[in-house]
Amino acid sequence: MSEHQQRIERAVAALGGAGVDALAVTNLVNVQYLTGYSGSNGIVVLSAARAVLITDFRYRDAVEPLRAVLDVEILDRDIAARVAEQLAELAPGSHRLGFEAASAPYALVERLRPLVPAGVELAPTEGLIETLRLVKSATELAATRHASDILEAVYGRLAAGRMVGRTEIDVAWEIERTIREAGFPELSFPPIVAGGAHGALPHAEPRNVAIERGDLVVVDIGARGVSGYCSDCTRTFAAGGPPDPAAAEDYALVLSAQLAGLGAVRPGAVGGVVDATAREIIEAAGAGELFGHGLGHGTGLEVHEGPTLRKGSEDVLVPGNLVTVEPGLYRPGRWGIRIEDHVAVTASGHEIITGFTKDLVETAG
Ligand code: ZN
Ligand code: ZN
Repeated sequence: MSEHQQRIERAVAALGGAGVDALAVTNLVNVQYLTGYSGSNGIVVLSAARAVLITDFRYRDAVEPLRAVLDVEILDRDIAARVAEQLAELAPGSHRLGFEAASAPYALVERLRPLVPAGVELAPTEGLIETLRLVKSATELAATRHASDILEAVYGRLAAGRMVGRTEIDVAWEIERTIREAGFPELSFPPIVAGGAHGALPHAEPRNVAIERGDLVVVDIGARGVSGYCSDCTRTFAAGGPPDPAAAEDYALVLSAQLAGLGAVRPGAVGGVVDATAREIIEAAGAGELFGHGLGHGTGLEVHEGPTLRKGSEDVLVPGNLVTVEPGLYRPGRWGIRIEDHVAVTASGHEIITGFTKDLVETAG
């Protein structure tokens, strides 16, 4: 049985727990997870009896191989009407047919209501497929490692090259080009390259502003491979020479928090506790207010998915989770620092999948 068939089986087995007999999967990432289909229009309808992917003519040929995994219908008419029919057909006699509350378009749900048989409830479900996605298979881990390896090459190239006098946009373009030339169709997200005071904005967009000697430069990047798996890593460089000694001190603080957070990543660890392990170190240095985001997040087909490592998170780590550990420190008007590793939770602890040094690297120029 193929990995996609196994995923569909696990999804079907989870329907009962969600109180439904069939489910319309509208989240395209969930559709891709279940079937491998990565087009822009498709809905999977699942039940114990059958799974069917409904899509349109544009994908007629592309979905042909998927017929080994599930039924496929190429539709040239109202997709909502067919989804309603399928929900009712695949779970005859059911009183509860499910849709994904987080992704089903409101307009679709409103269309479905009058189309399902009288007396049948359309029931919202939450996180059913997303929960399955939390634990990665060996194939998914390998795809993530592949997407991560290119980031090490990018960082190596940045360290050996020149940053001083170049604009953030120019450096971001070099990063994007390097990743794409290595055969990656996409990035996980647009690169963040943020020098000096701009680095104090955690989600800074690259500007047409030159990087100055001694600036700390936050470089947060990710690649998305052909199978859809995302990498995510951040390093903070010193451009062309040593930074302000106070910035170097902040860097050492973030690194010690990052190492403490990493040390807490193991099976059974609770997300909120892992976050606190790193956060306490920054707080103890009086800089707690300068670290205003969560410690990390899961990755997979999406660069941000479960489990979450942040204040109050009750997510419990298990082997097969992929998470990031990325404390930061953002001094308004001065500099920003973030150090992010991508980590796989293993049976005995964790394995770091981004190997580039976390020493504060001064770029060659
Ligand atoms: Zn990142
Ligand atoms: Zn991240």
